[in-house]
Amino acid sequence: MITYTLSPDFQFSQSNLYDFETCSYRFKLRYVDNLKWPAVEAEPIQEAELLAKLGTDFHLLVQQHLHYQQLPQADQAEMALEAMLVGDESHKLREWWQNYLCHPPAILQNATIYPELTFSTPLRGYRLTARFDVLAISPDGTFWIIDWKTSQRKPARQRLENHPQTLVYRYVLAMAGSPTLALPLKGGGLGGGEKWGISPDNIKMMYWYPAAPTEAEIFSYGPQLFEAHERRLSNLIEQIKDAVQNNNFPLTEDSRPCQYCVYRSLCKRGIKAGPLVEMETEAQAGLNISAFDWEQIAEIQF
Ligand code: SF4
Repeated sequence: MITYTLSPDFQFSQSNLYDFETCSYRFKLRYVDNLKWPAVEAEPIQEAELLAKLGTDFHLLVQQHLHYQQLPQADQAEMALEAMLVGDESHKLREWWQNYLCHPPAILQNATIYPELTFSTPLRGYRLTARFDVLAISPDGTFWIIDWKTSQRKPARQRLENHPQTLVYRYVLAMAGSPTLALPLKGGGLGGGEKWGISPDNIKMMYWYPAAPTEAEIFSYGPQLFEAHERRLSNLIEQIKDAVQNNNFPLTEDSRPCQYCVYRSLCKRGIKAGPLVEMETEAQAGLNISAFDWEQIAEIQF
């Protein structure tokens, strides 16, 4: 009998927890078997690729803008934008960029800004990791997690609130504020072994949509949510450890996610990819992540 094990250095993240919640078999194929499968997530392929490229370009553009915000904004915007405006996506990217310049999250104005940070914390014998597009500390002591969402539509607020990303990001940042945990730094720039003392009450998370720049979704935090999320995330990790130990990864009974899953032909759940226009908005936003150069990003463990 084949036995499966999760590597001791496996890192849990919002995306692999989301995969497990969606379909435990997908988690197995992707993270236990490390199986690459030659299929696309959505069709038409060109549009899906375009959306992915747009998302990646927008993230990079804002990242560069925030890194070099001491330069005159107009110069910086033009330099970065002109370098990226090639091909069919230029019109949409320019529109998103203008939306960002005209309606940036107000809290960025006076905040201390850290673009692209990765944090991780131990939980149930593994590390739980969160990659923030932006961490902004406002003068009143609020720690803002900002996530750029480049899907074509906004999901319902309740879906966002229950999404593993919204849980994981706030929880991991709150753990950074534990009075017993220091912040050894890899990569320079933030932490340096200091204790931040972040109370969950001082954490907020914002999803910001370049296609709907005045309709950001903001989620507060607090000790009760922190405890509830710790229970839910711990249970989820224990379920995964149990599934791995017993090699028990049932296929999802809901066939809808299969349309957008690269393993659908392997699972005999269809060959053709689902239509991009009907793809879940969270999954659309996820199309942009793969092309990031995470080597450039500082990692903070605690
Ligand atoms: S195709 Fe469906 S059943 Fe198979 S791994 Fe993907 S989501 Fe799970």
